[in-house]
Amino acid sequence: MNSQGSRWIVRGIGLLIVIGLPIVGTWLRRQSDEGCALDGIRIDPMFEVRIIDARDVEHRFCCLQCAVWWAQRRGEKSRQVLVTDETSGRRFDARSAYFVRSGVITNATTGNRVHAFQSRSDAEHHASVSRGTILSGSSRPFENIARDDPAN
Ligand SMILES: [Zn+2]
Repeated sequence: MNSQGSRWIVRGIGLLIVIGLPIVGTWLRRQSDEGCALDGIRIDPMFEVRIIDARDVEHRFCCLQCAVWWAQRRGEKSRQVLVTDETSGRRFDARSAYFVRSGVITNATTGNRVHAFQSRSDAEHHASVSRGTILSGSSRPFENIARDDPAN
């Protein structure tokens, strides 16, 4: 290879570093921002809760307990709450969720014992194997937090 060619390679590598470093830096910062909006701990996707607030800003939480505490502290109705089905890992609207309070703790830091399920049979199964109770009425999380009608 002639010296002209190797000079171009050196310039190319230099250019890649100049362009690449800010991108890597942004990516790393974004990775560290992925923690729970209340306590900052790493979010396990199986228990993730998302709250879309009245201004359409999304907030992510490590567990139901953190999301409830955060929403209560904020004291305003949220546009939507999304919970994760513990069976499938799918996120769905909390209003249609079956919540089970059981002996199984999802998060050692918060001591969260409330579990979310999309299907009633999964909720009943979890309740029966872990001595849990399906929550109803005002004992359901987010009952007074999420709006009944998203259009309002
Ligand atoms: Zn948390």
